[in-house]
Amino acid sequence: MATEQIAPAINAWDVAQRQFDLAAERLNLSPGLRRVLREPKRELTVHFPVKMDDGSVQVFTGYRVQHNLGRGPAKGGIRYHQDVTLDEVKALAMWMTWKCAVVGIPFGGGKGGVIVNPKKLSQREIEGLTRRFTTEISILIGPERDIPAPDVNTNAQTMAWMMDTYSMHVGYTVPAVVTGKPIPLGGSEGRNEATAQGAVYTIVDAAQHLGMDLRKCRVAVQGFGNAGAIAAQLMAAEGSTVIAVSDSTGAIYRRQGLAVNSVLAWKQEHHSVVGLPGSKEISNEELLELDCDILIPAALENQITAANAGKIQARLIAEAANGPTTPEADEILYKNARFVIPDILCNAGGVTVSYFEWVQDLERDFWTVAQVNEKLRAVMTKAFASTLDMSLSEQVNMRTAAYLLAVQRVADATSVRGLYP
Ligand code: GLU
Repeated sequence: MATEQIAPAINAWDVAQRQFDLAAERLNLSPGLRRVLREPKRELTVHFPVKMDDGSVQVFTGYRVQHNLGRGPAKGGIRYHQDVTLDEVKALAMWMTWKCAVVGIPFGGGKGGVIVNPKKLSQREIEGLTRRFTTEISILIGPERDIPAPDVNTNAQTMAWMMDTYSMHVGYTVPAVVTGKPIPLGGSEGRNEATAQGAVYTIVDAAQHLGMDLRKCRVAVQGFGNAGAIAAQLMAAEGSTVIAVSDSTGAIYRRQGLAVNSVLAWKQEHHSVVGLPGSKEISNEELLELDCDILIPAALENQITAANAGKIQARLIAEAANGPTTPEADEILYKNARFVIPDILCNAGGVTVSYFEWVQDLERDFWTVAQVNEKLRAVMTKAFASTLDMSLSEQVNMRTAAYLLAVQRVADATSVRGLYP
């Protein structure tokens, strides 16, 4: 009897460390520096109780990891997902360190997560979970220490509860302890759209470099959360045709193009993109391998792997998600002349406007959406240009190029600070 080969699950932390090793090797980093940057500085695991609506008490597990604080306070989102693991959060924290360094904002990398499917909880239960989790990680967070933000399945409301809980503990209002807040609490104009907007700025620059006319491009978007849904809208606004989108429930396709606003309205009502009249349901695998010009992975890690990288047809892959591509897939894509805008560059618009929000909160001075987007555009264009230059001069793919820039900046900060004591 033939035994079926089951591929071992891909571990995001293993991927993150391998990506770092590639850059460290090329940069010829000293063995000591490599050892330091290869591991997170702090990992906190908490198990905490939440009173559920049925009167029962459930215990949830959550994490906050600070990868590196060399260039400033830890910065990074909090995700709520049933598949969260400590290794995933460690990877996401390390990616935040490089992301902040690529775009040159003065933060280190952090990330948090709670193992929970929030779609199965009521709003009151999510509030209770958020407030207690904030309390449990309050030994780490603070506007000068570690500043959370939204990520998968968290949003401005989650940040409002976190900000309120932290402020109740210290006895005064501390808007700068989290970013991605609602505007009335010191949130920034443009922050909700920032991840997608930043990604689209890099797509515009990449298209110009590749000689692609966005008005003739067909786009597939994997994931229809904050990053994916808004990226789909912005690409449509650029004149591209969005031919496929997906969410955690499935994917839809329409050769002539989907009306993105209709998909949004449909999802709002049916909690799924699937079933939109006029669209055809396809699988997640089919979406990734579609005949299209631009693929925007905007969901979770490890979507483009050695198994499907050779079948990706898009000329341009813009990683709005964190960690969607494995190192093996990177090699295949590069060999097949696929141009990848790597996550740490492509989705850095989110944390960049988080930085703007933090600055505005600390200065008690707020900017217009036009000011925010102008500054965001400048940051993204500069980071894209430096990465492209590095990629061309070193003859490496865009991910390695972005890593070379980022790791060098963090390494410089770490060495010039010196080793304490
Ligand atoms: N969660 C987002 C990311 O992965 C934003 C982080 C932030 O704004 O701090 O980049």
